[in-house]
Amino acid sequence: MFKINDNYLKLPGSYLFSTIAKKVNGYTTANPQKSIIRLGIGDVTQPLAPAIIESLHNAVDEMGDAATFHGYAPDLGYEFLRNAMAENDYRSRGCDISADEVFISDGAKCDSGNIQEIFSTDNKIAVCDPVYPVYVDTNVMAGRTGTYDAESETWSDVIYMPCTAENDFAPELPKETPDIIYLCFPNNPTGSTLTKAQLQEWVDYANRVGAVIIYDAAYEAYISEADVPHTIYECEGARTCAIELRSFSKNAGFTGVRLGATIIPKDLKCGNVTLHSLWARRHGTKYNGAPYIVQRAGEAVYSEKGREQLKKQIAYYMNNAKVISHGLRDAGYHVSGGVNAPYIWLKTPDGMSSWDFFDFLLEKANVVGTPGSGFGPSGEGYFRLTAFGSYENTMEAIQRIKAL
Ligand SMILES: *Cc1c(COP(=O)(O)O)cnc(C)c1O
Repeated sequence: MFKINDNYLKLPGSYLFSTIAKKVNGYTTANPQKSIIRLGIGDVTQPLAPAIIESLHNAVDEMGDAATFHGYAPDLGYEFLRNAMAENDYRSRGCDISADEVFISDGAKCDSGNIQEIFSTDNKIAVCDPVYPVYVDTNVMAGRTGTYDAESETWSDVIYMPCTAENDFAPELPKETPDIIYLCFPNNPTGSTLTKAQLQEWVDYANRVGAVIIYDAAYEAYISEADVPHTIYECEGARTCAIELRSFSKNAGFTGVRLGATIIPKDLKCGNVTLHSLWARRHGTKYNGAPYIVQRAGEAVYSEKGREQLKKQIAYYMNNAKVISHGLRDAGYHVSGGVNAPYIWLKTPDGMSSWDFFDFLLEKANVVGTPGSGFGPSGEGYFRLTAFGSYENTMEAIQRIKAL
């Protein structure tokens, strides 16, 4: 008689976005004449840049000719893309990362979920609260998180690092020592960042206590301020304690194309075993590489034309972010984020709960956002809006909120 992995049964309740979808569907069914503006889910809306489309077309044509056809990709990614990333994302910023430390994948969600496999189930993880749910849930599935307490909405064996207005949405070094630390900056959901000096403290801490930092840099392209690091490898000593996750989803609109990368420096070791060798083995056994066509599309992200076009795309979203944060501030809201990230994090008015504010905004302004409490207990009393809508919809949504 087979048995299931009953860690899956420990996962609490319905997923945040399915609850939102149910509420919105309920409202639109009851009020079919209303036009709803969705500033909730973190998905891009602008089409792929022309340089990327051109590269995709060329790669498709290559696949139709026996002389240029490509079968299985190399497990770890094509050299042309690994080189482009090592050069443009790291060496051009003075960071010592080589092409063979770049592992190409189908996205940062998958990598952030899979990476825990190469660590012992005894390891204790630390996460920011609020947090991108993938980090915790995948550790739950692996049986690493202890028991769930529905009252406090926390796991017994997870170290939570609250990020609230009191600490400017930057986690403090935990009292209890973790083995694996998940950090994501610029942050989803709060839109906050760490300065280079703040991130350096984390790197020093991790090296001191022998922890690994899993650094999710999915929003790196949205950084506008000089003091905010684009990669953890800008910090001294990160090669011995940090894994970095990269995504093409938010910087180049690849959410439906699928491409990402994980960086593991060869200096990152447990005893004499490199994490690089474990991840290479894992990739080789369980993964057959991102598609050739998609990796060529990724290469175009680093071309001169691609870079120019993507700069405009990011600027478009960040203009929306400005519209949202300035508009909300004018309307008397306390807001943060939106400067180095496409997320605006606002304090709900009059001590409303996150879900009460969700209902209020849906019913009174027909605007959909994301309740902060869905990202963790410290998100209660906060609300996330995203800059990924169209300019017109964003303007309209803010007009409606201001008119409340
Ligand atoms: C959107 C997002 C990603 C991107 O994941 P992909 O699988 O590359 O699309 C990764 N991390 C965070 C925190 C995100 O918000």
